[in-house]
Amino acid sequence: MKDFATIRRLVVKVGTSTLAYETGLINIRHIEALVKVLSDLKNAGLQVVLVSSGAIGVGAGKLGLGGRPREMRAKQAAAAVGQCELMYLYDKLFSAYNHTVAQVLLTGDVVADEHRRANVVNTFECLLEWGAIPIVNENDTVSVEEIKIGDNDTLSAQVAQLVGADLLVLMSDIDGLYSDDPRRNPEARLVPQVTRVDKALLDTARGAGSLGTGGMLTKLKAARQVMAQGIDMVIVNGCDPQNLYAVLEGKPIGTRFISGGD
Ligand code: GLU
Repeated sequence: MKDFATIRRLVVKVGTSTLAYETGLINIRHIEALVKVLSDLKNAGLQVVLVSSGAIGVGAGKLGLGGRPREMRAKQAAAAVGQCELMYLYDKLFSAYNHTVAQVLLTGDVVADEHRRANVVNTFECLLEWGAIPIVNENDTVSVEEIKIGDNDTLSAQVAQLVGADLLVLMSDIDGLYSDDPRRNPEARLVPQVTRVDKALLDTARGAGSLGTGGMLTKLKAARQVMAQGIDMVIVNGCDPQNLYAVLEGKPIGTRFISGGD
């Protein structure tokens, strides 16, 4: 098993289903526990970038919309409300541990454009140099179809590449990759390690969904994307952020996607 003890630059993605209840309101227990663990990892010397979903869900909860909106403009407007709420909370919670957060909002066209991508990289580098914790989301207000990244699994894979991360951890509402859908098949087994994301594997994941935008398919595609750049990825259950310690200590937890393994 690969040694993760040498990880220096860590990107953690946390999904809506971990951050908010189905009501759209914040899961205070999860967000507080997450901030505590990330602050502790930061104190231990790691550089941390957090990719946080939840803007649409939290905005819908705050506005009392009675569920996640379906219409594009309503999603965008809900995200504008929810993003403030999220950053307010992160700022408040990280401040309690004396850490500084920074908001970075990206869209597909920015990452695809060489010049603008370079600006984003420079900003990340400067923030990390200063010891801040960049908190990234898609800029949902301006993300119309043509420039949309679409889901935060893909966004986090792009961020991991932009910052040259040593490891990407996707904190999900599931323990990892299963041999089949565990919600329908009790025989489904957790796959501890993957060294290659091929078509057959992608086919098994099609259709598996969760509360947020991404399902298992987007997670596998994210794995394929980062592994091609020599970056490892882990999927773990986000309901206990302490799982991050287990990942970094090399304990058998979640599914590890190890680059350069075949
Ligand atoms: N940008 C969306 C939000 O913050 C999330 C997309 C996703 O969860 O994949 O609500």
